[in-house]
Amino acid sequence: MNVLIVYAHPERRSLNGALNDFAVERLRANGHTVQVSDLYAMEWKATLDARDVRERETHAPFHPSLDSKHAFENGLQSRDIEIEQDKLRWADALILQFPMWWFSMPAIMKGWIERVYAYGFGYGNGEHSDTHWGDRYGEGLMQGKRAMIITTTGGWETHYAPRGINGPIDDLLFHIQHGMLFYPGFDVLAPVVVYRTSRMDEARMRSLRETLGARLDSLFSDEPIRYRKQNAGDYAIPALTLRDEVAEGESGFGAHIA
Ligand code: FAD
Repeated sequence: MNVLIVYAHPERRSLNGALNDFAVERLRANGHTVQVSDLYAMEWKATLDARDVRERETHAPFHPSLDSKHAFENGLQSRDIEIEQDKLRWADALILQFPMWWFSMPAIMKGWIERVYAYGFGYGNGEHSDTHWGDRYGEGLMQGKRAMIITTTGGWETHYAPRGINGPIDDLLFHIQHGMLFYPGFDVLAPVVVYRTSRMDEARMRSLRETLGARLDSLFSDEPIRYRKQNAGDYAIPALTLRDEVAEGESGFGAHIA
């Protein structure tokens, strides 16, 4: 199978760098073909702007989504965006690997999502009707592919527990897992989270390699998170709220998991 790892850390000789090397080796040892988009090494342009469209009339106001649609449909996207889109078409699984920075992914990776997920590619697909509100949340161009986050945190596991001060890790990652991965159609696997990274030694590193290795071994067999599909009946359209009889009395992020 083909695996794309999008990786964001400014220093190769970091914990993330070591985990990235390990992941690539392990996946290749399992017979997969792996590509890594090492965003800092590529000097990835993180900002979405008018320069993302080739042959653009400079006097016209830049409209982030309509210009994206126009560029995508007419082969006028900046070449770096097209290359990453081709990698996603090629991939059977996407891994986003990053250190948690300010409770999310580093800005450079957010910029990868913003630019690569063009109108017509990451969003804006499918019909809109009384039963179908676009191909998204379980449908879309990434349907049939898997995705998983590997992230590291300075905070302890307890800080991210259900009553931990940082908020539960599943809630913090919801905007990535549900919003950036499930939205364009990926089946999303439970994340691999490495907590309390300042306390890393050889023994912990050994056990971490075991845990991460096992998760990579089952990348194509683990059950994905059971996010509810938008167009499968659980949501009223066009309000896009859960129907009263679904997850009755529940609200918040957890209600979107069956
Ligand atoms: P490194 O600093 O490279 O390494 C961590 C430890 O692992 C070090 O002790 C190092 O010696 C050791 N190590 C490295 N490689 C190896 C190896 N091969 N074998 C054995 N040991 C090794 N944390 C949060 O919890 N929440 C936040 O919101 C948050 N926001 C942040 C925002 C910013 C801007 C920054 C800079 C940090 C933030 N942090 C936050 C902390 C951050 O998540 C951690 O510093 C990061 O995850 C550590 O990953 P690293 O790859 O940079 O580790």
